[in-house]
Amino acid sequence: MQQDALIDTIGKHQDGKVTLKGWVYNKRSSGKIRFVLLRDGTGIIQCVFLKNDVPEHVFDLADSVTQESSVEVTGLVRADARAPGGFELTADGLKLIQLAEPYPITPKEHGVDFLMKNRHLWFRSARQVAVLRIRNEIIKALRGFLDDNGFLCCDTPILTPAACEGTTTLFELDYFGATVYLAQSGQLYNEPLCAAVRKTYCFGPTFRAEKSKTRRHLMEFWMLEPEVAFLDLAGSMELAEELVAHTVARVLDKRKQDLETLGRDLSGLEAVRTPFPRLSYADAIDLLRSKGRNIEFGDDFGAEEETVLGQSHDRPVIVHRYPAAVKAFYMKRDESDPSLALAMDMISSEGYGEIIGGGQREEDRQKLEASIKQHRLPQEAFEWYLDLRRYGSFPHSGFGLGLERFVAWITGVRHIRETIPFPRMLEKVYP
Ligand code: ATP
Ligand code: MG
Repeated sequence: MQQDALIDTIGKHQDGKVTLKGWVYNKRSSGKIRFVLLRDGTGIIQCVFLKNDVPEHVFDLADSVTQESSVEVTGLVRADARAPGGFELTADGLKLIQLAEPYPITPKEHGVDFLMKNRHLWFRSARQVAVLRIRNEIIKALRGFLDDNGFLCCDTPILTPAACEGTTTLFELDYFGATVYLAQSGQLYNEPLCAAVRKTYCFGPTFRAEKSKTRRHLMEFWMLEPEVAFLDLAGSMELAEELVAHTVARVLDKRKQDLETLGRDLSGLEAVRTPFPRLSYADAIDLLRSKGRNIEFGDDFGAEEETVLGQSHDRPVIVHRYPAAVKAFYMKRDESDPSLALAMDMISSEGYGEIIGGGQREEDRQKLEASIKQHRLPQEAFEWYLDLRRYGSFPHSGFGLGLERFVAWITGVRHIRETIPFPRMLEKVYP
């Protein structure tokens, strides 16, 4: 494939002539000079047009070309320490591919509703591109860590017959006359897979009809879910903290410039080293009370509790052993106190809320059947799942990491809607 010159590797062409294809990001003029900021999807470079040095039609076009017009610029690559990427283009040619109509997103401030309606254009901006790059780096780091540690990515279905955690947050679909649901987790399917390959994970979109508007919930989000045979709760907490610490370090190493574009305070990320503090649910309740929260033992944590817990430490904190009543039917009970589930959540530092939820699964068939009954779930739907407890049952654990929550935290973007190209939110599915 013949490669055009690209802005992010323009240094290869220093003092040489290149043709760049891209879009007009911005423009300014000063006397007999026109400055065109060209964006090509890999970076931004300033192209300088001098009236006395370029053909008249080129200068006129540099003068009249509109924001986001697609163009081809030819010129000489010059090192310039003051330029953002270290290089500037002394242009001698400019060709119009398409003259853009007045572009709706101008350098002035726009409201979020307006930007969300123009999401398909909005992510051309430098900040949004930085988020997309970091998102991609996070995915690579997460997958890389698991792949390098003996995991096999097997993936799980999106159309599922059973409503494993009740139907309130499920999207329902007609499946040739039967009802199926969009998966809200791949976990139940990961469990038989880990009996086949020991360490498995799935990574894909999950769907939840979350009926409340928060800055932490999407209706469609991506989840990374490892599941490991013969791993207990303590082991899954270790796996989770190593995965998170590795990923944060990788982003700091590879994407510092993008973090800087976003104005991210790096000290909050640099502190993310193992071991992460662990708090039992009971300790977390005490901590919350000592900070003035009005919470009873037995309550699940809401966004505000998560924020307080997360801000109490310089790195993510793992809360474990929740009351079984607030957790899903498949959670194993703590032998020393069966009212507690061997569940764990990781809460991010700096107030971005829960990023991981998981724990150890019940491996005893009778206990699991009793729990299915107690949760008023139809046992027929879970016969295949119970088979796992019939044929060589084994302790196993795993968790789900919400990608967009993770991206929000790492990038420091306040609202989850900016962490995915096309967010699906309550009553908002355009574009
Ligand atoms: P929350 O209490 O914040 O709604 P949850 O307990 O429902 O989370 P889990 O079912 O444990 O979450 O899902 C695992 C992870 O998936 C969470 O830790 C979070 O990172 C992410 N997650 C859950 N729901 C959403 C959502 N609606 N949008 C984006 N990410 C989500
Ligand atoms: Mg939830």
